[in-house]
Amino acid sequence: MSKHIQAIRGMHDILPERIALWHRLEDTTRQVLSAYGYAEIRTPLVEVTDLFKRSIGEVTDIVEKEMYSFEDRNGDSLSLRPEGTASCVRAAIEHGLLVQPQRLWYRGPMFRYERPQRGRYRQFHQIGVESFGLAGPDIDLELLLLTARLWRLLGFDDFRLEINTLGDNAERLAYREQLIAYLSAHVDRLDADSLKRLHTNPLRVLDSKNPQTQQIVAEAPTLMDHLGEESRTHFDRIREGLDEAGIAYRVNPRLVRGLDYYNRTVFEWITENLGAQGTVCAGGRYDGLVEQLGGRPTPAFGFAMGVERLVELTSLTGYQAEAAVDAYLVAVGDAAQRAAPGLAERLRDAVPGLRLLTHCGGGSFKSQFKKADKSGADLALILGEEELARGVFGVKPLREDAEQRELGIEALAAFLSERCGRGG
Ligand code: ATP
Ligand code: MG
Repeated sequence: MSKHIQAIRGMHDILPERIALWHRLEDTTRQVLSAYGYAEIRTPLVEVTDLFKRSIGEVTDIVEKEMYSFEDRNGDSLSLRPEGTASCVRAAIEHGLLVQPQRLWYRGPMFRYERPQRGRYRQFHQIGVESFGLAGPDIDLELLLLTARLWRLLGFDDFRLEINTLGDNAERLAYREQLIAYLSAHVDRLDADSLKRLHTNPLRVLDSKNPQTQQIVAEAPTLMDHLGEESRTHFDRIREGLDEAGIAYRVNPRLVRGLDYYNRTVFEWITENLGAQGTVCAGGRYDGLVEQLGGRPTPAFGFAMGVERLVELTSLTGYQAEAAVDAYLVAVGDAAQRAAPGLAERLRDAVPGLRLLTHCGGGSFKSQFKKADKSGADLALILGEEELARGVFGVKPLREDAEQRELGIEALAAFLSERCGRGG
């Protein structure tokens, strides 16, 4: 017998029973983003590999180990996108969007060949937000406040905000030398990846997940001590704004981000409720990236949220989605079954937003009624030969102890509008 084909390891089906959690997150996010004036952009899932090499950086986990890259039939090297910022920048340059400030967002699947575990998958989803052409701390603050509002609306009250600043290029270069000197004095205790990065990308060593390296990093000099006037003011303004808004945060001088392109502000929102994979939203300023990808120098700030992690948190809060349907139409007997589709259409016309499931496939009253109950519907609408002859529906509430009654189609439409209409 042939083996069943299964989904690829680390890539998951999202089943109907979970979809309401996704919708809630997606809908709330979309509302908040549009309330702040952000516009959605959709880019392809596949890009030329060079886009990610040039933006994320050659010496990063993503580019070195995690990309799904392949040659297409032309021999071009393409990759499934591991994140959304590079594509967003590429598209913004390509379509001339950057002649004025832009506030954009996107959502969709990302692909990274990582070791699958709770909160870490090979296909996962992000909702990302990017702003272009705005250099000041006000936009950094706007986006931090936006995320805080989103968590409030979603009922996440235990997220912790960590922020840091990576300074500007000159400041980072000066710091880099100091860091290399410090780490070089501890080479005997660095993990292999960190050793390799010591001279190519020493800041990434700060981000190492290796416990022994983390111990060394804990004593390392920090960039905070190398900040110039402008970088310091930028950072202070953000801190003041967060204080004024009453949003708690911690300055974490070891916070660098996994990608090369950040400068100045970086941040992460973290929860304790997901085990090791606690970062639910992360990002920062990346003023150099647009130019690096061939555009005009354009300051930028953005972040991405991990949708699976947020969805799991929503499920942990015991969020109960409302039932998927309002009413289930039971039609028993030949004539009733033939009349049912037309009558259902009339109800749908009359009651905008009505979620009406019509029974298909015939069967006895008892078996249909069982299905009505299982559907989660609030009401069963019953159409037998007798009801049909008299031009009425039996209407039976399924979730409360109430008598069945009979309503003609107009009265039924009025009743349904009142009870479950969602406006037109
Ligand atoms: P980590 O340090 O956890 O690997 P990262 O720095 O690689 O995270 P980003 O590239 O900044 O993460 O992505 C932003 C967010 O997307 C993360 O904070 C996380 O919530 C989510 N995310 C990243 N990689 C994965 C993954 N493999 N599976 C599920 N969610 C992910
Ligand atoms: Mg990662």
